[in-house]
Amino acid sequence: MELFVENINTYYGLSHILFDVSLQINQGEVVVLLGRNGAGKTTTMLSIMGINPPKSGKVMYRNKEITRRSPYKIARLGIGFVPEDRRIFPDLTVYGNLDVGRRPSKNKTPKWTLERIYQMFPILKDFSNRHGGTLSGGEQQMLTIARTLMGDPDFLLLDEPSEGLAPIIVKVLGDFIEVIKKEGMTVLLSEQNTKFALKHADRAYIVDNGSIKYEGSIADLEQNEEIKKRYLAV
Ligand code: ATP
Repeated sequence: MELFVENINTYYGLSHILFDVSLQINQGEVVVLLGRNGAGKTTTMLSIMGINPPKSGKVMYRNKEITRRSPYKIARLGIGFVPEDRRIFPDLTVYGNLDVGRRPSKNKTPKWTLERIYQMFPILKDFSNRHGGTLSGGEQQMLTIARTLMGDPDFLLLDEPSEGLAPIIVKVLGDFIEVIKKEGMTVLLSEQNTKFALKHADRAYIVDNGSIKYEGSIADLEQNEEIKKRYLAV
């Protein structure tokens, strides 16, 4: 198993946000965490990355416990995190933003080189000398993903990547997920866009009010009208 989250409880100050959340993700799977606004998707990702570590429970990556390790150490193990709020550096060029994401790779031949990233997102090549802050929301989302890829991750956490983006950009992101899926990258995707998630994921968890309410294959979820109506507003 690639990632194993076992009964985590996470707080912001005194507010108890995640209640015994457990997830299991196998190597090469694309798993989606679905749920409404405020359900606990981002908090789950921040817990895994050690940015807001859980108070109790365990996070295991490739059989190594990573609970409460510092975020940069977790990243170094090969977990890449693409935050929802697209923290690009507005005053650096696109190239500068990508260069910041570079990290000595544990692999002799990194899977993601600058050339490959430019091939995947040609617009970033065209705009490589432009300042990050001048890009559109969709372009910034691509840049955030691309910057994370510069660290050559094996496992990618994508927090609501399609949020607020035009359909054409959502399509680019969908194609990107299909490419990395084919290459065997493991992905945990959080989404409110159920259609996008169901199209690209293999398996789903639904989180609501900080606890997991459903776990199953995409095919099963698609047929479960009651769960979809209750938690996904579809
Ligand atoms: P969203 O689409 O809003 O990101 P989400 O499913 O990712 O939804 P979270 O961001 O994980 O939800 O939020 C879960 C709960 O934690 C919400 O009730 C939210 O109000 C609360 N919360 C989030 N960040 C903080 C914070 N910094 N301090 C206190 N409470 C917070």
